[in-house]
Formats: sequence, C-alpha cells, structure tokens
Amino acid sequence: MPKKFAVLGNPIVHSQSPAIHQAFAAQFGIKLSYERILVPLDQLAEVLHQFQKNGGQGVNITVPFKIEAFPLIANKTARATKAGAINTIAFNHNACLGDNTDGIGLLRDLTQNHELDLTDQRILILGAGGATKGILQALLSAKPASITIANRTLITAEKLVADFSDLGHCSACNLNQIPDQPFDLIINATSAGVKGELLALAEPIVNNSICYDLAYGSAAQPFLNWAKQGGAINYYDGLGMLVEQAAEAFYIWHQLMPATKPVIKLLRAKL
Ligand code: NDP
Repeated sequence: MPKKFAVLGNPIVHSQSPAIHQAFAAQFGIKLSYERILVPLDQLAEVLHQFQKNGGQGVNITVPFKIEAFPLIANKTARATKAGAINTIAFNHNACLGDNTDGIGLLRDLTQNHELDLTDQRILILGAGGATKGILQALLSAKPASITIANRTLITAEKLVADFSDLGHCSACNLNQIPDQPFDLIINATSAGVKGELLALAEPIVNNSICYDLAYGSAAQPFLNWAKQGGAINYYDGLGMLVEQAAEAFYIWHQLMPATKPVIKLLRAKL
C-alpha cells in the first residue's frame, strides 16, 4: 500500500506539490500517493483529522491555512513555533509534528542555487504576511547587516519586528515610505502578483540590488520586470524555494534528502 500524502489549501488546483513529491519519490523508487485537497475555508481541522484517520502520513499546508494550522497541532519544531505558522505536518500513529520549511527552503535557494552570501547584506522584505513570518528566522541566521520589512499595513510589519528582533537587526516601515538607502537584496513577499494586483513601488531602491520574488511563473513577472527596469544586478523567482521547501518536507517524512536541481529544471520547463 503506497504511503499517503496531500497538500491542503484553497485554492489548490495550481499546486505543483504533487509533481514535486512524485519526482522526489521516483529518485528513491518510493511509491506514494500525493493529492491536492481543496479545503473549505472553515474546515481545516475536520479535513486534517479525517486525512490522518484514513491513514495519511503527512500533509503540506498552503495559502491561506498556514497560520490557522498552528494552534491545531500541539507538537511543533522550534522554527515553526518562532514563525507561528506551519506548512508541513507529519502524522505518526496518533502523534503529529508541525514544522515550517519555508525559511530553510528560501535560504537554500538563495545561498546554494544562486550562490549568494547574505552575511552583512542589507535586506529589504516587501510584505509581512505568513510567508515573511516563515522566512525571517532563516534569513536572520545568515547574519545579514539588517532586515527592513516594508508593508502596506505598518502595524503588521512592526509586530514582526517585535517578534524577531532578538535574532538580529530588524526594522519596519510603510510600503510607500521605504528609506532612501541602498539594499543588497530585495525580496517580494507580498501576494500582489498572485492576486493580479498592482504593487506600487518607487524606482530608485532597486539600483544595484538583487531582487527575488517568492512567487513564480506569471505571478512573479510584474515584480521581476520592475527589478529589471530599475537596474537590478540580478533577479529570481521563487520556483527554487518551492522545490527546496518541499525537499525539506520530503526529508521530514522519509528521512531521505532528494536532489532538487533536476526537479527545479523539470518544473521550469513546464512554466
Ligand atoms: P499573506 O496573505 O499571508 O500576506 C500577503 C502580504 O502581501 C501582506 O503583507 C499584504 O499586505 C501584502 N499585499 C497583498 N496585496 C498587496 C498589494 N496589492 N500591495 C501591497 N501589498 C500587498 O500571503 P503569504 O505571506 O502566505 O504569501 C505571500 C507570497 O509568497 C505569495 O505570492 C505566495 O505565493 C508566496 N509564497 C511562495 C512560497 C514558495 O515556496 N515559493 C512559499 C510561501 C509563499 P497587508 O498586510 O497590508 O494586507
């Protein structure tokens, strides 16, 4: 009987997670089922319970449930606890473990796939939602000089600064009042592109920066175009992060670390 996994979200139809996990499993000759489950907005707890009861061994949690999943799982890793958000759950008999692999996924994409050294870098993050909560600890572990979090709703960015300042130098600002100073790395962690909305930003901050959008495919294009036009040294989308965070989830479930580069290449060819 193949082991049973799923990704839970709403919407979920475009999720690449089944293809990624099947590609990882094929590297080890593992047979597994990995389905997409569209979860009604008020039914996360019920769907999780049912999936586990039916023999499910693990799930990924995606938009919009990462924060809502947090209080539902009693046992969590330290990085999930700090993030206050869960994107991976392992079911083991009656026990569950909640984790958050987004941060390590981004860090591996930046430092291993794109060979960036974040030490002493000045980082600007646009957006202060669930994804930003998930990546801050990992980014701060790379010892950047500073992280500035710019958000449309200032108070959300300020709350993140209060929660993460023990790990490194963070500050908050409004999205339309970004300090006129150079940034080495600008990360778009807003959901504007995914929602097809305009991300209104000033021009000069891009000059000589590296830009990275957590989104990928057409959702990343407006930000990457803005980066290119503003004079960014280089710009990347979040496809590598997607595959790297999935690799870490795969490791949690199977204790095997898959090769990610061929899977990133495979997905890139399909975009
Ligand atoms: P959330 O809904 O939790 O947060 C969205 C953030 O975007 C908020 O800070 C919100 O600001 C801001 N925002 C939304 N629309 C606009 C707009 N029109 N202009 C300016 N700011 C806006 O989403 P997540 O944090 O979970 O996800 C963010 C992005 O990261 C998505 O594109 C998601 O697909 C991507 N992602 C990619 C991953 C990967 O593996 N590659 C993993 C996780 C996420 P406000 O607070 O003011 O509402």
